[in-house]
Amino acid sequence: MLYKPERIYVDSQVLNLQFCTNILHKYADVEQIIIDSPDEIPELSDADFSITRGKRVLYLKRYQGSAFKLCPGFSLDVLCCNYYVIDLIENCPLECAYCILQAFLNKPFIIFHLNVEEIIEQTLSTIERNPSQPFRVGTGEHSDSLALDHIFQVNPYLVETFSALPNAMLELKTKTDLIEPLRGLNHKGRTAVAWSLNPHEIIEQIELKTAPLEKRLQASACLVSEGYKVAFHFDPLIYYPNWRTGYAQTIEMMFDYVSPRHIAWISLGTLRYIPILKQIAEERFPHISIFCNEFIAASDGKMRYLKKIRKELLQTVSGLIRKGGPGIPLYLCMEKHSVWDDMMTVHPANAEALEKYLKSNV
Ligand code: SF4
Repeated sequence: MLYKPERIYVDSQVLNLQFCTNILHKYADVEQIIIDSPDEIPELSDADFSITRGKRVLYLKRYQGSAFKLCPGFSLDVLCCNYYVIDLIENCPLECAYCILQAFLNKPFIIFHLNVEEIIEQTLSTIERNPSQPFRVGTGEHSDSLALDHIFQVNPYLVETFSALPNAMLELKTKTDLIEPLRGLNHKGRTAVAWSLNPHEIIEQIELKTAPLEKRLQASACLVSEGYKVAFHFDPLIYYPNWRTGYAQTIEMMFDYVSPRHIAWISLGTLRYIPILKQIAEERFPHISIFCNEFIAASDGKMRYLKKIRKELLQTVSGLIRKGGPGIPLYLCMEKHSVWDDMMTVHPANAEALEKYLKSNV
């Protein structure tokens, strides 16, 4: 079901912007409260105000500072893929039990940054000043890229902006099948739409409010027919009793729907979490068992499966993908060089080499 807010807070600074006018017009039947400062929002001083209730509130505001930046996962310790993010939306209407945002966002609302033109100017200025540098840019760092576009309506604008940039590629990541706004656009091959995949039993249990596996794959096939490149993310991989069969069936279905030549890249990553997330998620979703496994604290403070489990998951899933699509660039998200050595057949030496490898199927 499409997300609809129950209340909208509007920062007076964005009232005159076209994106704001459109949203307020569309939701004229929803309570709209204009404020000059977040201090005027009573929910922010209510200790009992929950994450679940926060998701029903939309807050329209400006982004202060630069919303275009290198992916926050960047670190010298890990093999980074030089990914950039545009911070247009914070928080998400979907409910993945493992979602890091539950432990991370200090305002529980869904926030839109409506000074889009200013944000795009910042983005273009960096990309155009560095014409020999390739950029991969995503909007799904703090939300799902498609789940809210029936309200924001920013994706067509982004797709058309990127269609004119020879050295950049936009990636829209999703777990939905909400592709209507992307159809019929003149994307010129500069946008890849990426689906995060998991076996259907995992989706049913812990990726609540998302589209079923088959619907995600139908949507990806539909955008292939519109000339888009698509990508897939097997992240987080979950270790559960039926995982071998579950991932084998999921990968088989993926290749039934989309031919390897249309797949720009695939990433892999196993479940990882900061310790506080376990407590928050288990309170919100008492039925889940994903944290009942053998985890160890890694040097970045995150809990990860024991190495033998991670190795089994990554080697099995990457092997199945390689078998169906040997030419698809396959990469690990935010992993150390030693993990690449242990678990992958390809190991780019640095971020530039990884970037080049990821472009090889585009
Ligand atoms: S889709 Fe992504 S941002 Fe949304 S709840 Fe799931 S993990 Fe979080």
